Amino acid sequence: MPCSSPERELLTFWLAGSLDAGEAERVARHVAMCDSCRSDAANGRTGASSSKDYERCT
Ligand SMILES: [Zn+2]
Repeated sequence: MPCSSPERELLTFWLAGSLDAGEAERVARHVAMCDSCRSDAANGRTGASSSKDYERCT
């Protein structure tokens, strides 16, 4: 079942680490209880095609 919560919109930014602490916590809590978002976060897939611009620094 697709997730249409506002937190999902923030998932891309959460994965990129560009949220402030309050938003990051909010998304983290949502992901913890939302199978759909947790799965997408685990796959690094958020439905946004702009993620190509994000270069991961490890
Ligand atoms: Zn969700």
